[in-house]
Amino acid sequence: MVILDGKKTSNDLKDEIAIAVAKRRSEGKKIPHLAAILVGTDGASMTYVNSKVKSCEKVGFNSTLIDLPEDTTEDQLLNEIDDLNKDNDIDGFIVQLPLPKQIDEQKVLMAVDPNKDVDGFHPVNVGKMTLDLPTFLPATPYGIMELLKRYKVETSGKNVVVIGRSHIVGRPMSILLSQKRDVGNATVTLVHSRTKNLEEITKEADIIVAALGKAEFLTGDMVKDGVTIIDVGITRVKDDSKKRGYRLAGDVDFESVSKKAGFITPVPGGVGPMTIAMLLKNTLLACENRD
Ligand code: NAP
Repeated sequence: MVILDGKKTSNDLKDEIAIAVAKRRSEGKKIPHLAAILVGTDGASMTYVNSKVKSCEKVGFNSTLIDLPEDTTEDQLLNEIDDLNKDNDIDGFIVQLPLPKQIDEQKVLMAVDPNKDVDGFHPVNVGKMTLDLPTFLPATPYGIMELLKRYKVETSGKNVVVIGRSHIVGRPMSILLSQKRDVGNATVTLVHSRTKNLEEITKEADIIVAALGKAEFLTGDMVKDGVTIIDVGITRVKDDSKKRGYRLAGDVDFESVSKKAGFITPVPGGVGPMTIAMLLKNTLLACENRD
């Protein structure tokens, strides 16, 4: 069994990005600048945004964190987005999800300039991705593709089962892996909460991407020998033995599944760090596009 080490791979990627930034600097070109908008004080969101900003520093990007209070109105947020759209120094920006309930998420995503949409969530970019056109790929599926590529996991002709159909993970993952591309050409089945006989389907899979957000859902008896497992889930599970009172659990029961898997991502240290690295890669691309 081989561990797909997202931490190491993301550090390799960050080193490559840092070299590209240093080269830009020596050539007198613009330094990439990523902005992040955080609304409210959700613990997990604050952790994610802070590590995104820290990663910017690591690769030599400029970064700006816009921290807005929980009671921010939709109009106020749309104004901030408008400012970032117009700001010539900002190459790309993200609005950390989820948003407080008074704000319509779709309206917000639609307001982001597609050329600065480094999360790849704007309909224009989703459309381009679906049509195999070059664009910003959503960071989590993009990170998974990169991990599969760097570990030379064969996807062509394989049976892939993606569990979960969210717009940010499951749906784009199923599209990308079914496309005629380097890491792709797979026969993809997308399953969700209404799927019947899920276990019969997962047992036939050569590769499983678990993105449903249910701690340790996929167990060893649901998979076949030699399967490749990509665990996207991150759930905080109460654990009094930990100082912070919880542990992070994936969607996969690592203990039983790793005994049968050929390749497997750990949680933490698998898909999570790759997501951040791909956000940086998209920001570098956004900056290069504006050269
Ligand atoms: P989401 O929007 O809540 O979607 C979950 C999906 O799973 C839905 O399509 C749902 O089906 C399906 N589902 C729920 N229960 C199911 C079941 N028992 N059997 C089969 N399918 C089931 O979640 P998400 O945003 O994609 O996130 C999924 C997990 O990944 C979460 O733990 C999240 O924290 C994590 N995540 C990690 C990263 C990272 O960088 N590592 C990034 C994003 C998300 P329906 O559509 O029928 O409701």
